[in-house]
Amino acid sequence: MGVLVDSRGGPPPCAVGVDIGRTKIAAGVVTGDGRILERRTVAAPSHLDQPAVAAQVTALVKELTYVCPEARLVGVGTPEVVEWPSGSVLDAGGSGQNFALRALLEDSVSLPTVVDSDANVAAWAEYRSGSAVGTRNAVIVTVGTGVGGGIVVDGQLYRGSAGFAGEIGHIVVQPAGVACQCGNRGCLEALASGSALSRNGRRAAEADPDGMIARLAGSIDRVTGETVFAAAQQGDARARALFDELGHWLGLGVAAIMLLFDPDVVVISGGLARTGHLLLSPAVTSMQANCAVRGGRVPRLELAGHSASAGLVGAGMLALDTFAAPR
Ligand SMILES: [Zn+2]
Repeated sequence: MGVLVDSRGGPPPCAVGVDIGRTKIAAGVVTGDGRILERRTVAAPSHLDQPAVAAQVTALVKELTYVCPEARLVGVGTPEVVEWPSGSVLDAGGSGQNFALRALLEDSVSLPTVVDSDANVAAWAEYRSGSAVGTRNAVIVTVGTGVGGGIVVDGQLYRGSAGFAGEIGHIVVQPAGVACQCGNRGCLEALASGSALSRNGRRAAEADPDGMIARLAGSIDRVTGETVFAAAQQGDARARALFDELGHWLGLGVAAIMLLFDPDVVVISGGLARTGHLLLSPAVTSMQANCAVRGGRVPRLELAGHSASAGLVGAGMLALDTFAAPR
């Protein structure tokens, strides 16, 4: 692992970044300043079949390195529970067995490879080329179907002892509250995720079958978070109240992060960041109300700079930064 690219000439440093999702796998050739030179997206095999996922990632990397031979590093983000730095997926597909994803990929593509959680690579994208650029300490909260987190301390991803730090989604903000898929109750993820917005939207549509949420969806069982977003954009008071509720819980979680880490900024990333100030404004209000006085220092809570490509950009940049010579 040495200097792989001569910065005084030759091609720009770049790497293949791969974002493994539950439904699709996105991959691209990413430059050191976060640009995407080539991009491919394919359907993802079931996450229960990690060897099939690895085979698909291998095929994508081989195709992209054929098109861009100067990409000689690979970074991968996965939604599975992954150990750092081994890059092993723990309890792969619920089998009770670990799956050595990083080792297998390094063998199959013959390139230095890093494998990290999807939340960490998305966080790295924000830190290196998004809303947290220029900071030393930042926490990136990914709000999508679930809620994840990536923590940057003194310019490094903080991963904890084995890579599991940043499970912000399972901070309990409402004891004995709504059931979470982790088995606990009242987790941030159960109250402030896209899934929570869909669930609350369906409930609102049931309570008001003639309301805008129900009308936009066509039927109650077709209500999703997108429906609530569309209704809120059109000024529907009930939909806006659901965003206020979501933002309230998110702000509580962010306040805990602020108190624990005193970061320069907390960035809201993930699919729900697209909803902009509908989510951000109530979250800021709630965060400020629940954050102890910090000597007049106003905590910064901002929306992500990257959109859907954060995962693959961050994965590629993480590979470049991990294998680069010390700067
Ligand atoms: Zn939970």
